[in-house]
Amino acid sequence: MLVQSIHFQARSKEKLADERLQRNLRRLAEKFVTARASAMQEIDFEATREAAVDRRNRTIERLDLWIELFEEKATARGATVLFAESAAQASEIVVEIARKHEVKTVTKSKSMVSEEMALNQALREAGVEPIETDLGEYILQINNNEAPSHIIAPVIHKDKEEISELFSKVHDKPKLTEIPQLTREAREQLRPKFLGADMGVTGGNFVIAETGSVALVTNEGNEGMVTIMPRVHVVVTGIEKVLATLEDFATVARLLTRSATGQSISNYVSLLTGTRAHGEPDGPDHLYFVFVDGGRSSLLGTDFQDMLRCIRCGACMNHCPVYQKIGGHAYGWVYPGPMGSVLTPSYTGIEQALDLPQAATLCGECHVVCPVKIPLPDLLRKLRERQFERHLRPWIERLGLSAWVFLATRPKLYRLVFGVANRVLRLWAGKRGRIGSFGPGNGWTDFRDFPGPSSKPFSERYVTWQAQRAFAKSATNPGPR
Ligand code: SF4
Repeated sequence: MLVQSIHFQARSKEKLADERLQRNLRRLAEKFVTARASAMQEIDFEATREAAVDRRNRTIERLDLWIELFEEKATARGATVLFAESAAQASEIVVEIARKHEVKTVTKSKSMVSEEMALNQALREAGVEPIETDLGEYILQINNNEAPSHIIAPVIHKDKEEISELFSKVHDKPKLTEIPQLTREAREQLRPKFLGADMGVTGGNFVIAETGSVALVTNEGNEGMVTIMPRVHVVVTGIEKVLATLEDFATVARLLTRSATGQSISNYVSLLTGTRAHGEPDGPDHLYFVFVDGGRSSLLGTDFQDMLRCIRCGACMNHCPVYQKIGGHAYGWVYPGPMGSVLTPSYTGIEQALDLPQAATLCGECHVVCPVKIPLPDLLRKLRERQFERHLRPWIERLGLSAWVFLATRPKLYRLVFGVANRVLRLWAGKRGRIGSFGPGNGWTDFRDFPGPSSKPFSERYVTWQAQRAFAKSATNPGPR
């Protein structure tokens, strides 16, 4: 998928002015945030996430070993395991598989890795028809191959009326108004495609080393039709998606659906192992696993290794105040929200995504809800540091930061300069105590007033607060007399 994160600022402005999008994005809080909070009451969240962190870390720390074990087990059950260094190479491999098996049509279930690979485009160029079968992805495909805007709910940016109009136009049928009617119409369109497909492509929520299986977690059941009916099944997945054991999967699965949609468990959890055995009524004759590196191995052993634990639940974006206002398309690549703001620069190059590490308030909510404790705010800060060191931020910002560092390391001068600035700003704020327009801070004051500073700066308050605290401590614990 083409990286367009360079247009982040312009796109964000567009999205903020789009009233329909703003209305649709409110569903994030209604649908996912509340549901997640109540689903987490069912388990001991902290203990389960600690266990999940351990289980994800143990494979990531020895990825080579666990992938090798997976390859051995999967091959023993008739699968072929292939590796691609880049997303583009992974696409070529899938196209090659399609050619080898004389495939004309491919049914697909939702896979963000296949978005990285721009797989649909590669298949079309090779004369193979790809058909998205996840309802959200199907809607996007018939809308001129639009990109998903969320990793779990790809059409969260659209409302029922938009989808209804689209179906009526594309299916050439009367406009329907109810969601069950719309889903039935999509099912009628997709059913013959399922029956006629030569090859099925899925992602893999996880692959399990001890059994050589792929775990698929979905709500619509389309992945069953995609994996069982065609004669060829191809799994495309990132190299980091390996779990050591089925028990590890059971632990992580307890967090995945609760974090993603607020469900205790999703409607369908499939564990698929090997090709169709002799006497079995269904399943593929040929099974391939295509592992994609695409920048992942470059994170191993670095400050960003924690990011590889990600289980793609989407909780960080659902809770992010920035994502909640601009949606996923503004981020300009496959992964939006806080996880995308780390992954896009890490996988595609920091120069391609200069604004993404800044697209965060650093409120910390993404870290609080992340089921595998990825320190997203720290990682965003580290990316900002790298940008600063490599002179990738605008000169005015670098000058401002250098000036601040100069002052902050000279306390007397700091107090003098900020004392003067404090007085000037208080005069400016006047009796109202607010500044309506402030040159360098216009990005803020165009939309809201800037509060005037307090007469007692934070540094002074902090000293007072510490003295009070020390006094309170000595009063409650007077020590030996
Ligand atoms: S970073 Fe954490 S919260 Fe965000 S998608 Fe990944 S696992 Fe979920």
